Amino acid sequence: MVTTIKKLGKRKRIAMVAHDHRKADLIDWAVYNKTVLAKHEIFATGTTGRLVEEALDRPVKKFMSGPLGGDQQIGSMIANGEIDVLIFFWDPMQAQPHDSDVKALLRLGVLWNIPMACDRATADFLMTSHFMHDEYDAVVPDFTEYLTRPIEKDE
Ligand code: PGA
Repeated sequence: MVTTIKKLGKRKRIAMVAHDHRKADLIDWAVYNKTVLAKHEIFATGTTGRLVEEALDRPVKKFMSGPLGGDQQIGSMIANGEIDVLIFFWDPMQAQPHDSDVKALLRLGVLWNIPMACDRATADFLMTSHFMHDEYDAVVPDFTEYLTRPIEKDE
């Protein structure tokens, strides 16, 4: 696959999403990592964002609630290269009304090589990586050729 380099700055754009039974976990984690998070920009789905904003006493850029399209809004930002890190505490014990959106967001995170944590331990490892504080060259697929190739016609 042809790849290209996406340069991540020192200040990362972090997206957060937590399903209802994981919200307390995410808030606990965010408070524990408040000092590191203070150096970065935070985006989140609606309810998660409100809770993070209150817990950290700082502004969070909020999208729609996940089931209303928030996951897809974050996915769209990932595809546009506007999100650097994804903290996604999805619920492994319960199906969600927007399971298809959950799957789509996870897929885009992997497709675009986004550092992604779905549990506290991985999220802690991410926050303590020196790449969180330094610039980082992420290798991402280069779809330019794919996007511009002529459409194949059936004979
Ligand atoms: P919420 O959405 O932050 O608005 O609760 C999260 C989700 O369920 O995807």
